[in-house]
Amino acid sequence: MDDRQPAPAPRRRRRSAAAVGLAGALTAGLLAGAPAASADRPGGRGGDPVPAPERSPVAVGTGGAVSTVDPYATQIGLDVLADGGTAVDAAIAAAAALGVTEPYSAGIGGGGFLLHHDAETGETRSYDSRETAPATFTEKTFLGEDGEPLPFGEVVSSGLSVGVPGTPALWERLAATEGTRPLGELLAPARDLARRGFVVDETFSAQTAANAERFRRFPATERVYLPGGEVPQPGDVFRNPGMARAYDELIRRGTQTLYEGPMARAVVRAARYPRTAPGVEVLAGQITAADLAAYEVLEPEPVRSDYRGLEVVGMPVPSSGGIAVAESLNLLEAYDELTGEPLPDVAEDAYLHRFAEASATAFADRNRYVGDVPGVPTAELVSQGFADERACELFDADAAAARPIPFGTPDGQYEDCASAAGTQEPPRDDHGTTHLTVADASGDVVSYTLTIEQTGGSGITVPGYGFLLNNELTDFSFVPVTAGVPDPNLPGPGKRPRSSMAPTVVLQDGVAVGGLGSPGGATIITTTAQVLVGAVDRGLPLVDAVAAPRVSSRNGATTTVEPAIADGPLGAALRERGHELSTSAEIGAATAVRVLPDGRFEAAAETSRRGGGSAGVVDPG
Ligand code: GLU
Repeated sequence: MDDRQPAPAPRRRRRSAAAVGLAGALTAGLLAGAPAASADRPGGRGGDPVPAPERSPVAVGTGGAVSTVDPYATQIGLDVLADGGTAVDAAIAAAAALGVTEPYSAGIGGGGFLLHHDAETGETRSYDSRETAPATFTEKTFLGEDGEPLPFGEVVSSGLSVGVPGTPALWERLAATEGTRPLGELLAPARDLARRGFVVDETFSAQTAANAERFRRFPATERVYLPGGEVPQPGDVFRNPGMARAYDELIRRGTQTLYEGPMARAVVRAARYPRTAPGVEVLAGQITAADLAAYEVLEPEPVRSDYRGLEVVGMPVPSSGGIAVAESLNLLEAYDELTGEPLPDVAEDAYLHRFAEASATAFADRNRYVGDVPGVPTAELVSQGFADERACELFDADAAAARPIPFGTPDGQYEDCASAAGTQEPPRDDHGTTHLTVADASGDVVSYTLTIEQTGGSGITVPGYGFLLNNELTDFSFVPVTAGVPDPNLPGPGKRPRSSMAPTVVLQDGVAVGGLGSPGGATIITTTAQVLVGAVDRGLPLVDAVAAPRVSSRNGATTTVEPAIADGPLGAALRERGHELSTSAEIGAATAVRVLPDGRFEAAAETSRRGGGSAGVVDPG
């Protein structure tokens, strides 16, 4: 990896390892360690686990803030900040912890996207650590011998869905260029958490149960995640000595162990020749040692757009997140102009209708134009002119536009109020992933979404290392979603599948005033935009903007809503406007941080979705 990827120069002065000690309460407890012998078996009940920190969906205070879905990860991030680490340091440490406690959503077998606002330079940089397709991939990889697409369900739990992981390479790159600590020091708390064990919560237990049948197909996975053949129950202690070993190798050898060392060989073997239970056959993967060695973290220009005088910075291609969030927000501004009624002033049902129309329109354009291909018209897609034209042609305050909404023509000519260029069916979408947001006392903000794609990824655990491999390559279209319409998201050699991940940083006059994001497949885009609009336009405190009932229209036949909308007057009002509603118990699991006018931080997480998230600040008060 080093040949192709010369280490960029550090952007920060790094502290020497000897000068630093992670002093926070949890970390100190972790570093005290447990006797390795008692912890050196998967799962189990009892032992000397790390006690679960308190969980709160909101925190206000100074010194820095962390919000994740998980109290262990939040506490580990806060400990790093309390010890003088930066937002980048804390984000790496918290993400590593999520790899342990949220192993079905994220980890070193996956990838992600990260934005870092650097207060010192005023720059906001974006990092792409998306999984890549093997060099052997072509547009036809997901077609069977009969030319028909392979059954999606077969590809999901197979080696063929596994892309080259990017997460360890991103951590290494960031620690070297933007962090102030050696990577090993930031990974140590996660390693110790895996070794000593954590207390299982409802979400972990339920996600394991939902995947149990799939996990049993792979003995290495069953051994780790179904200890004793059973689903861990809330309150049990879960240990993952293989994962501790994986982190230990990353700490001792550096992350190139996963790209060119022993762990790389284990990953290639696990994906190409997955060991399965008797009678189970799965599709073999194609990744090779050369694919792993060629992996690169990319640093593309982020997507920038203006919303109500704020600068919204988001993730560019191969994610569609930044583009679709920006277009949705631009459309909402355009609807204000068209109707003469600004969004903050309209009733809740009118707001939800506008929001659904904006996101469906943005999805029509995202589906047609965004993928890991040259020439994506990003600047036009996020221009206000394009949104104005789309709004003028399509928006009706009293009636939902027929789905699928046609895609537009982002060509820079926006005078005639007619843009539609064709229609396309929406692609499949799915749910997994995790998002964390960190701010530090110097004004840096990190917004980081990481994933192994579906909850439980490919279901394949790397034997001896305790982590699951991603199934990110299922994010490609197997065939063009609509015959005759170009699809920018077909598989190809070394290509990165289109994502919806939308880590977002919000600036005012060049200063970061917040960050946010969410998991949830394609609903990531709508959740992120809705939380932002809730806080900016609907006047909600951040935690209420996160908790507010969600609507998600992704240009499919139905508009997805949570029960609080579906079952009440808001649902009735949306149906009246012609929205066909489908209900989803939960949409997304957002985390967010904002800087209050008095300079304090407000960290917010979910109050109840996915069992509630964990927001914290270094000094409450
Ligand atoms: N793989 C999805 C994406 O990149 C995220 C998965 C999820 O959040 O469910 O958009």
